[in-house]
Amino acid sequence: MQIAIDGPAGAGKSTIAKLVAKKLGITYLDTGAMYRAVTLAVMRQGADFSDSAAMIRIAGECDIALSDDHVFLNGEDVTDAIRTPEVSKHTSDVAPIAEIRDILVEEQRRIAEGTSVIMDGRDIGSVVLPGADYKFYLDADAAVRAERRYKELSEKGTDQTLEEIHRDIIKRDYNDMHRESSPLVKADDAVVIDSTPLGIDEVAQTIISHIQA
Ligand code: C5P
Repeated sequence: MQIAIDGPAGAGKSTIAKLVAKKLGITYLDTGAMYRAVTLAVMRQGADFSDSAAMIRIAGECDIALSDDHVFLNGEDVTDAIRTPEVSKHTSDVAPIAEIRDILVEEQRRIAEGTSVIMDGRDIGSVVLPGADYKFYLDADAAVRAERRYKELSEKGTDQTLEEIHRDIIKRDYNDMHRESSPLVKADDAVVIDSTPLGIDEVAQTIISHIQA
């Protein structure tokens, strides 16, 4: 079984996908973490975010592993390091590059082969797994998404204000929706869930009910 969840930043995709994966006993793959890991590798190598050739080379050399709730880059646990505002901002420089997407999409498809999986991202239903058994597009008001993200980051001790987070989310959504290569779109056959008024458990239950129906 393959389940695709797409949607804008902060819609709760990863939290919900993790919950559904646990309830169904299937593998969860956070594809955003892969783009973030490449972004971190570019930052660490001091490459310029306008140098596509260098970024493609770095992406090709990255060994990214996702295991349980942890993300490893070349063997190092980078779970927290890939969640900084700087990495979030610069994923918009890395994610539009078609050659980098090809590398990561190939890996995502390889992971999905022969196993039941729930994958979240921006292009899962449209590009990575167009034949997925179930596709969902998770959305929510930008202000609500910013508030959720602010709460989550505050618990970890961020110095970003709610306004900054709101602005970053809107900018990231714009970039993700307007890039040429695999933009964020709702797949024609995706079920849209607006999570604005819903809690995490309610959204997860909506998805599970849909799958079991
Ligand atoms: O899901 P998350 O917010 O961690 O993703 C970070 C960034 O990675 C997104 O803003 C987007 O630019 C990129 N991304 C993508 N395609 C995916 C997953 C993430 O372009 N499938």
